[in-house]
Amino acid sequence: AGKKVLIVYAHQEPKSFNGSLLKIAVEELTKQGCSVTVSDLYAMQFEPRATRNDIVGHLHNSEAFNYGVETWEAYKRGCLSKDLVEEQKKVREADLLIFQFPLFWFNMPAILKGWMDRVLVQGFAYDFSKIYDGGLLQDKLSLFSFTTGVSQEIYSKEGIGGDIRYVLWPMQHGIMHFCGVKVLEPHICYAPENVSEEKRKEMLAAWTQRLKTLWKEEPINCSPEWYFK
Ligand code: FAD
Ligand code: ZN
Repeated sequence: AGKKVLIVYAHQEPKSFNGSLLKIAVEELTKQGCSVTVSDLYAMQFEPRATRNDIVGHLHNSEAFNYGVETWEAYKRGCLSKDLVEEQKKVREADLLIFQFPLFWFNMPAILKGWMDRVLVQGFAYDFSKIYDGGLLQDKLSLFSFTTGVSQEIYSKEGIGGDIRYVLWPMQHGIMHFCGVKVLEPHICYAPENVSEEKRKEMLAAWTQRLKTLWKEEPINCSPEWYFK
């Protein structure tokens, strides 16, 4: 209770399975007394491209554009574009970040990747030696909640897809852990399009159930072994 949650949501259709998972999270967490904010990226027409437009006013070096350097400098000067400032404020205030999306090509949809690329600026999310356990977004939790097109059997070590944890490595370790954010177990709904209505209802009920005891969970031990052992 009293916790702040930011849900970054990437699906075009409210009636989708992802839309239903989002709705459940908003309802359940609100019921618990959490304050929930949703960044509905498609509805916001969130800009995924990392460009010069992200810096308001003059550049640090206008001879040769370097996105990382320019956004870092602009962050320090308070000259990042308004949409980034707003997302950073939501992140700063949140105790928990939930990412809700369908898996696209073993990864997050481009619009969500663009959110990561643009919002998690140097100086805000990490700095020189302030990375991993020393990252700037400490004392926050993250949870990747996503759906797949194919079954759990395919995403096993022996399956053609390989262990699903391999796709979690860049997201959980490469992004969240890098920025100091702790990682809760991912929540994966396999193949909602290809299972029975009954199974779909079960998967949705399981998400509600998990959310009820979410604040008692311990983060995973986010190290190479968790992914590749
Ligand atoms: P939907 O089609 O929206 O939902 C499935 C069903 O659930 C629908 O019939 C819907 O009506 C129903 N539903 C919604 N809400 C409820 C409710 N409350 N109760 C009961 N039923 C409900 N998959 C992979 O595994 N790996 C990949 O690499 C991959 N790459 C992709 C790349 C692209 C570009 C695209 C477009 C897809 C890719 N996919 C991949 C597939 C994709 O991950 C799935 O299509 C997606 O995860 C399905 O989720 P959804 O929310 O869109 O499902
Ligand atoms: Zn890690």
